[in-house]
Amino acid sequence: MSLSLEGKTCLVTGGSRGIGRAIALKLADFGADVAVTYSRSADAAEEVKAEIESKGQKAKAIQADAVDLERAEEVIAEIVDDWGKIDVIVNNAGITKDNLILRMTEEQWDDVITTNLKSIFNYSKAAAKPMMRNRGGSIINISSVVGISGNAGQSNYAASKAGIIGFTKSYAKELASRNIRANVVAPGYILTDMTGELDEKVLEGIKAETPLGRAGDASEVADAVVFLSSDMSSYITGEVIRVDGGMAM
Ligand code: NAD
Repeated sequence: MSLSLEGKTCLVTGGSRGIGRAIALKLADFGADVAVTYSRSADAAEEVKAEIESKGQKAKAIQADAVDLERAEEVIAEIVDDWGKIDVIVNNAGITKDNLILRMTEEQWDDVITTNLKSIFNYSKAAAKPMMRNRGGSIINISSVVGISGNAGQSNYAASKAGIIGFTKSYAKELASRNIRANVVAPGYILTDMTGELDEKVLEGIKAETPLGRAGDASEVADAVVFLSSDMSSYITGEVIRVDGGMAM
């Protein structure tokens, strides 16, 4: 067994920036062909596609709102038609709309739950049949330590990220007999546009709560995803791997 992803085809949702971008590029570093979806940033997604191609791998940048099931089925079909199969799905697309429960609007609740949770259902469901035909696959869902520990001001986000863990374990149990594995990566505080919006004081507090005493880099999340995509993790399913500097231990 090796970490090589040569011959594997992968899809990363929301792969035009941040953690998704780092994952897409690292999967290509290890020899995979990689498609990324994006909602609005066509230019950034095309840049990721070009960077993957410059590593000698096949790439696609596909516009697709992750909350749209029909579109998810079209995206998977396009990959299977063009590349013959889909081996790995990384459900990365996600948003935050933070507020204290007393102030949280119904819209903030619905948007975060729908984007973060339904998107996971969509791509996991759409990939199931092609993966069964291919006699295996790996689904990797990006949750958060907030889904494990909770966080004041993020009840919608925490509920969605905890939901991802329950969904993944159920999916893993349903499809294990078909050699389809499903695992969760739960990042802690990682420097991206998403965390860039946090207040400086809040960020200092997060660092103080992190035993390794620093923010994580998106590429460190990507390392865990490469492992779960590879045959090196062939006996691991239904697992949650925290990449959080020890924050939630
Ligand atoms: P980001 O905001 O930089 O990237 C999120 C990506 O998701 C963007 O490319 C965005 O366009 C895409 N996206 C959002 N809604 C979409 C939709 N409806 N359809 C398609 N794409 C959509 O954030 P990030 O920090 O890179 O986060 C990536 C994932 O990691 C998210 O699921 C996030 O919850 C999770 N996460 C991040 C951190 C962190 O500290 N940055 C920590 C824990 C978990």
